[in-house]
Amino acid sequence: MGNDKKKNVLLKSGKIIDPVQGREFVSDIYIKDGIVSEIKEKIEIKEGSTVEINAEGCVVSPGFVDMHTHLREPGFEDEETIESGAQAAVRGGITTVACMPNTRPVIDSQSLVRYILEKSRESACNVLPVAAMTEGLNGKAITEMGLLTEAGAVAFSDDGKGIKDSKLMYEIMRYSTQLGALLILHEEDDFISKSGLVHEGHYSTILGLDGISGLSDDLMIARDIMLAVRSKARIHITHLSTKSGLEMIKKAKEEGVNITCDVTPHHLFFNDSCLTSFNTNFKVKPPIRSEEDRLALIEGVKKGVIDAVASDHAPHLDTEKNTTFKLASFGTIGLETLFSAVFSKLCIEEKMSLPKLIGFITTSPAGILGINAGKIEVGKVANITVIDTKAEEEIKKESFISKSKNSAFIGQKLKGKIICTISKGELVYRSE
Ligand SMILES: [Zn+2]
Ligand SMILES: [Zn+2]
Repeated sequence: MGNDKKKNVLLKSGKIIDPVQGREFVSDIYIKDGIVSEIKEKIEIKEGSTVEINAEGCVVSPGFVDMHTHLREPGFEDEETIESGAQAAVRGGITTVACMPNTRPVIDSQSLVRYILEKSRESACNVLPVAAMTEGLNGKAITEMGLLTEAGAVAFSDDGKGIKDSKLMYEIMRYSTQLGALLILHEEDDFISKSGLVHEGHYSTILGLDGISGLSDDLMIARDIMLAVRSKARIHITHLSTKSGLEMIKKAKEEGVNITCDVTPHHLFFNDSCLTSFNTNFKVKPPIRSEEDRLALIEGVKKGVIDAVASDHAPHLDTEKNTTFKLASFGTIGLETLFSAVFSKLCIEEKMSLPKLIGFITTSPAGILGINAGKIEVGKVANITVIDTKAEEEIKKESFISKSKNSAFIGQKLKGKIICTISKGELVYRSE
């Protein structure tokens, strides 16, 4: 990766999806020296070093943007590294990820933001650092958000933890408003979620597992909407899990609050009946909730109340997952199955159009993050994903590229296979 001998690539006869215009058309694309140089019906190339890829019958999409992922570096390199996470991302057709700051040390200083950006330069996809809102995620002292923005932080989050102190949250919002910074909020009331393992409901009762009430998310969403009204902050609620949370966000949007939100593929795909398997890969935060919640989230995507789909890729070792439900770590990986999971659920099952779905994983998250990505444009660096939407694959543990294999989707048959990914102008992934 990162060599200067970029091979030219000719994508032949793919169906190009333009999520901005919501249209699709068949065309060739020629990528020369990493730049999209031509998009037209028939391109004949004579240059010897061109890799030709037959994309006939396949979909050609802008590279996906995943605005919520955990790459575990620095500090937990046995679970994932920036490099291994980037390789997993491009296998999933993702060419840009925003990575969360709950590493060790926490991304709360300019030097660590620069460290991530430096690593990003050598890695297979674009990696954008999200910096912490509080020092060391301590929930007490605000970080130097101005300096962190200057260093290149794309947004701020204390992901993994809710901010308990409402006054502090208000101060963070006021500061972010001055800077024009985006806050990505993990909404959890620790006092409510405390010893909880799964969604509090029918299944937590019959299985005898400690529950986490939807109130844990909802109380914080309600508070933060009120604080955002007062502070005029730009807030993004991540991994939305409850129907009631969605309703609050809908109302806030109607009232002109500067708020957006995302949902994960696993919250769209599963409901809490999955817990009967006692598979610890279903132990995630916020928990996979009831069918009523799941259906509401799907409606939320269809109606555009939800703005983006993000993986919340959370790598954990076998030793952290092959244990009791009580002791297992929270989280599922999600980079490599991001597209196939949502495509299978939303397009195949729920009949959503493909250009619309692609918008949720390209232009929309790019717009929220304020980055130039999610488009295929002549004259710009190529970030492109080719998908065979007819291919179906059973998800197998051993086929993951990610260092960790804790996927909630193992055993599922998913449609939509990534054929190749061109990221930062280079052909970085090709399926065999
Ligand atoms: Zn979170
Ligand atoms: Zn997360």
